[in-house]
Amino acid sequence: MATVTYDQATRVYPGADSPAVDKLDIEIADGEFLVLVGPSGCGKSTSLRMLAGLEDVNEGNIRIGDRDVTHLPPKDRDIAMVFQNYALYPHMTVADNMGFALKIAGVPKTEIRKKVEDAAKILDLTKYLDRKPKALSGGQRQRVAMGRAIVREPQVFLMDEPLSNLDAKLRVQTRTEIASLQRRLGITTVYVTHDQVEALTMGDRVAVLKDGLLQQVDSPRKMYDRPANLFVAGFIGSPAMNLIEVPITDGGVKFGNSVVPVEREALTAAVDKGDKTVTVGVRPEHFDIVNGDGNGKALSKDEKAGVPVTVNVVEELGADGYVYGTAEVGGEKRDLVVRVPGRSVPEKGSTIHVVPQGGESHVFSTSSGERLSD
Ligand code: ADP
Repeated sequence: MATVTYDQATRVYPGADSPAVDKLDIEIADGEFLVLVGPSGCGKSTSLRMLAGLEDVNEGNIRIGDRDVTHLPPKDRDIAMVFQNYALYPHMTVADNMGFALKIAGVPKTEIRKKVEDAAKILDLTKYLDRKPKALSGGQRQRVAMGRAIVREPQVFLMDEPLSNLDAKLRVQTRTEIASLQRRLGITTVYVTHDQVEALTMGDRVAVLKDGLLQQVDSPRKMYDRPANLFVAGFIGSPAMNLIEVPITDGGVKFGNSVVPVEREALTAAVDKGDKTVTVGVRPEHFDIVNGDGNGKALSKDEKAGVPVTVNVVEELGADGYVYGTAEVGGEKRDLVVRVPGRSVPEKGSTIHVVPQGGESHVFSTSSGERLSD
């Protein structure tokens, strides 16, 4: 087991104008499950491949424990990788697939058999050891690929979108299996995905990348509750956080007929930048509906509060519903998503009035995107 350190690690592909990964700094604890996430092309795979030794590091360095592995060949790094395309050898049995790397390394047969059997037990593959990959389901094949990595007892597991070939249901099941397996084995793991839900549900911590630059590295909870900038705010969470540009007024920001109180420091910081607006972020579940249920019931005395939202679409998910509506904020029409209780969803075409819940709004600089609120 070991820590992993990216120290200003940079990769510039030949002929590229900008680095694919730019001065990446992350310290991964011993036994930690770290997920690298971000949109396509943000540098996730390059970061992983630099750690694997499959990609040159042009500046900075990478350490596993206190070994500087920056220029070591992959085979000397004590890592095992599980790829998106787990490419099992079709003519070999499950047992032979799992033990292949050990065989190449000259490990004695009886020892290989023992390690393969132990891994098969962990992965619930014991009764499939003599089968060929074509006689396995997608999920079982995925587990064989995991088994191949486990038998090597590496210091670090590297996984590059290992679930992307599975169907939706199996993905959910397998991601839970991998996360709990990792916790049991306690092997430091770096996992790449473009799927933010996968990142939040699997990682001890999540690192969000954009254009080769690390945006934030935090626990899933903190990432969701306190995104560091507008990009992370919009990327983490589904449906996405509502991000609304609003004028700054005394003591708060104006949201329709309400003034949403925000910390004075946040507003001072925006004014100091010369900004006349801030961008307020509100998650769909952090709106209060202030005028009844939108189904024609009488409006309360709060009817003028907040922002009227015209309901365009209602997505009913059983426990909850999501209203996709249009609101007028600061004289402009804006799309808003509001979570409502599943049993009292408003009708399409009706109007609901919403206000952001106190203490649940995020304030970002409209000009730089950085987080201004605490
Ligand atoms: P991700 O895994 O987040 O989708 P990558 O790490 O694959 O992103 O790619 C990061 C950037 O580097 C992208 O702009 C991509 O086009 C570029 N890139 C990736 N591989 C190569 C390569 N072998 N040669 C040149 N550019 C590459």
